[in-house]
Amino acid sequence: MTVYSHSRLSCFEQCPYKYKLSYIDKVETEIPESIEAFLGNRVHEVLQKLYEDLKFQKQNSHEDLKKYLHEIWEKNWDDSIVIVKKEYTKDNYLKMAEKFIADYYNRYHPFDQGRTIVLEDRILITLDSEGDYKLQGYIDRLVESCDGFYEIHDYKTNARLPLPSEIKSDRQLALYMIGVKSNYPDVKGVKLIWHFLAFDKEIDSTRSDDELEALKKETIALIDKIESEEKFVAKTSFLCDWCEYKPVCKQWVHLYKIKEMPESKYLSEPGVKLVNRYAELKEKKKKFVDEVESELEEIEKALFSFAEKEKVDVVFGNENKVRIKETETVKFPSKSSKEREKLEKLLKENGIWKEVDQLDTAALNKLLNENIIDKELVGEINKFIKLEKSKRVYLSKI
Ligand code: SF4
Repeated sequence: MTVYSHSRLSCFEQCPYKYKLSYIDKVETEIPESIEAFLGNRVHEVLQKLYEDLKFQKQNSHEDLKKYLHEIWEKNWDDSIVIVKKEYTKDNYLKMAEKFIADYYNRYHPFDQGRTIVLEDRILITLDSEGDYKLQGYIDRLVESCDGFYEIHDYKTNARLPLPSEIKSDRQLALYMIGVKSNYPDVKGVKLIWHFLAFDKEIDSTRSDDELEALKKETIALIDKIESEEKFVAKTSFLCDWCEYKPVCKQWVHLYKIKEMPESKYLSEPGVKLVNRYAELKEKKKKFVDEVESELEEIEKALFSFAEKEKVDVVFGNENKVRIKETETVKFPSKSSKEREKLEKLLKENGIWKEVDQLDTAALNKLLNENIIDKELVGEINKFIKLEKSKRVYLSKI
C-alpha cells in the first residue's frame, strides 16, 4: 500500500480533487511556490545550518545566520514566486524571516538545551501490527533532553497562532511521536514542541498511549477512505488562492476563460452577466432590508412612547393591533470578563460548579428559580447579575 504522509492526508481533507491532481494524476503545474512556502523553507534551512554546525562545534553568530539567510534567499529567489497579499513585497517577507531568526537566536542562544539526535530526518511510522498502513514524515529536529526523554521540535512560520485545542489535536507531531516511540527503544517519554517563530513562542504538548492508539485508528480509517474514494470532489475555499492547481482546476475554469477575453466580450458573457445581475440584486435587497429595518425600529420606539403616554399595552390600527410586552432578562457577566471569573470562583468554592455545567448560565438561572440554593449564596450570586428590561411588539389582526 502507498506510504502516506501528514501533508498527503491533509491535502485530501482540504480538497479531494487537489489530492487527485497532485497524487494520482500527478499533474505538473507551472505555478511556482508561494512566498509563504518560500519563506518557511529558507527559515528551516537557516535553523538546520545552525544545529548542523553545532554538531561540529561551530557556533554561528546572529550576523552569520543573517548573512546566510540573505545568501540563500537571493540564490533561490525566482520572480514568479506568488505573493497573494499584494500589499506586501518580497522585502517585507525577507524582514519577517530576519525577525524570526533574530528572535529564535536571542531566545535559545547558546543552544545547549538538549542533544540534537537528528535534523530534517525522515521517519517511518507504522500504524498497524501487520505493517500495511505506513506513513513517512520529516522531523525538523529530534532532541534528547535527558536519558530516554525525547523532544520533537517543529518550526512554524504561520501568521496565525493556533488555539490550545488545535495543538492538543494536532496530528502531524503526534504521528511522529508514534514513529519515535517505535524507532528508539530506550524512549521513556516524548514531548512535542512547536516553535511559532512569528510570535517568538514555544508551545509544548504530548500524547498518552490511549490517544496515540485512537490516532492510529482514525488515520487508518482516513487512509481506507482515500483508497476507496472514487469521486474526488473539488472543495473550493479561501485556500484555493494558495493552490498550485488553480489554473487547471475545473472549479476555476470560468475565471481563466473570461480573463482571456477582451472587455467588450467579457461583459456580455452569459455567466458574467448573470453573476453581475445577481450581485446587483442582492445589494439592492440588502439596502432595502436595512432601510425597512431602520424604519421599523423608529416606529417601535414611537409605539413604546405612545403606549406609555396613553398608559395602554395595546395600540390599534385600521385592521391590526400591536401588543407591547415588557420582559426582564437575566444578564450574567460576559465570558472572559473579570466579573465572570469571580462568579465562577464563587460557584466552585460553594460546590455548585458541577450543577451549572462549567457555568452554563441557563442552568444557573434554573437553579436560582428553583430556590434550591442557599439564600446567602443567592445574595452573593445576585451581585453578579444585572436585570435588563426589554420590550417587544406583537402584531396581530384585530
Ligand atoms: S483550486 Fe481549490 S478546488 Fe481547485 S483543486 Fe485547488 S483547492 Fe481544490
